[in-house]
Amino acid sequence: MARAKHVIVIGAGFAGLSAATSLADKGFRVTVLEKNAQAGGRARVFQDSGFTFDMGPSWYWMPDVFETYFGRFGKKPSDYYQLVRLDPSYAVIFGADDAVNVPAGVDNLQAVFENMEPGASRRLLDFLKQAAYKYEVGINQFVWKPSRRVSEFMSLKLLQDVLRLDVFQSFSSHVRKYFSNERLLQLMEFPILFLGATPENTPAMYSLMNYAEISMGTWYPMGGMHEIVKAMVKLAEEKGVEIVLNHPVKQITVTNGSARTVETYQGAFEADIVVAGADYQHVDSKLLAPDYRNYDDRYWNSRVMAPSSLLFYLGIDRRVPRLQHHNLFFDEDFGQHAFEIYEKPQWPTKPLFYVSAPSKTDPGVAPAGMENLFILIPVAPDLNDPEETRERYYELVMDRLEAYVGESIRDHVIFKRSYAHSNFIADYHAFRGNAYGLANTLRQTAILKPGLKNKRVNNLFYTGQLTVPGPGVPPSLISGLVVADEVAKEFG
Ligand SMILES: Cc1cc2nc3c(=O)[nH]c(=O)nc-3n(C[C@H](O)[C@H](O)[C@H](O)COP(=O)(O)OP(=O)(O)OC[C@H]3O[C@@H](n4cnc5c(N)ncnc54)[C@H](O)[C@@H]3O)c2cc1C
Repeated sequence: MARAKHVIVIGAGFAGLSAATSLADKGFRVTVLEKNAQAGGRARVFQDSGFTFDMGPSWYWMPDVFETYFGRFGKKPSDYYQLVRLDPSYAVIFGADDAVNVPAGVDNLQAVFENMEPGASRRLLDFLKQAAYKYEVGINQFVWKPSRRVSEFMSLKLLQDVLRLDVFQSFSSHVRKYFSNERLLQLMEFPILFLGATPENTPAMYSLMNYAEISMGTWYPMGGMHEIVKAMVKLAEEKGVEIVLNHPVKQITVTNGSARTVETYQGAFEADIVVAGADYQHVDSKLLAPDYRNYDDRYWNSRVMAPSSLLFYLGIDRRVPRLQHHNLFFDEDFGQHAFEIYEKPQWPTKPLFYVSAPSKTDPGVAPAGMENLFILIPVAPDLNDPEETRERYYELVMDRLEAYVGESIRDHVIFKRSYAHSNFIADYHAFRGNAYGLANTLRQTAILKPGLKNKRVNNLFYTGQLTVPGPGVPPSLISGLVVADEVAKEFG
């Protein structure tokens, strides 16, 4: 019997684990080399003072993609973790005495919409109808395309679909055809912020995100988001994948146009095929000799990155009744904040921010009677993040948070840790300290994204949030599956 080809996957984030599992399932021998002591990449977890903190993602959207992922291997998410649907899905805070709980379910949301703008409940259904179509075509067809050739998109049906997808119209003008109330517009534009660009620069196609959020719901895996990683690691190991932690890769050596050796500080690993799930720019610019890079520095420096984040993980010694599980503080002008992220990158004057309190749903993530808080301030990439700056924002956020909850939080903090650009760089080799990869602008969509195969090294592939289909947990899972299919087509 022929020897199984050996694939080295660099990085045990969602994309690397997904690619590794799929490749092992297809009969390859797979070794994952991960820099950190824990799998999960940006979705790692840490415990301190009795609290369990998810370090990155907190929104579980598109449950169908997770079903598809585990379904590929004859499994279901419920084989590994228990999902609960959040209701309200989230709260939007417009001011200290002014908040809207966004209920789960379209019917309930219609009532909220009608209350804010007469006629908006019917228009919400119209909006969701077109968004459902975009979700169907976008998530069930487009994101599964490896986007290596324009010809992949050259069927008449697909071209018709592209036109109906509104790729050339901005989300901002699209949503204004349905609603005019400022708050409704903010509610509808909020999911777009996940894509790392302003609604003006995001194609209207991404109203599929509203469909995902409103019609499919906001979910939470009991135990926290890292439960997904644990499930994926278990499945990968069941398939025979070997995951080697604490092994940062320092070089990929190319011989006669093929990547043959992956070198770590602990030793070298021979490979027939290499799939890089670490940040694309890091692999391309730091692990390969210049002759083999897919893109030069000019290319990378001209990319529009999604924002970075300043994060605070807080353990509070009491419950905070006024908070929901997800809380969006839209109590300042988004235009100004967006300008300071995208147009003139700088630390923001009055940022919007987000507070997650998973202990509202999950008693396991905080000691009894206490609250686990995760605070995220979206900020421009490439900023210096000294302690004084972080502290300034801590105080700013606390002022607004305390004004809203009507009680002191600062006095009850028994655990505090901050995390920003320099941590993203140190932990993940994140280009410019980015949190969510490349922004999903029209010029960085599908074949216009960094390609998933190296042009000069015949057995080197890329996966993860900087290549197709893009940032977010569901797209990263898809990215791994798509690249595994491409590897199998060429080397299976
Ligand atoms: C704060 C934050 C909040 C987010 N919120 C959400 C959310 O609510 N919902 C959602 O869907 N998405 C969210 N995202 C986005 C989502 O987490 C990412 O898109 C996804 O985790 C990216 O997965 P990945 O596998 O592409 O990359 P990563 O998770 O970064 O994995 C890459 C891996 O490669 C490793 N690596 C890097 N260099 C090397 C090297 N030289 N050698 C070996 N290994 C290396 C890294 O350590 C890492 O483990 C959030 C992200 C962040 C940061």
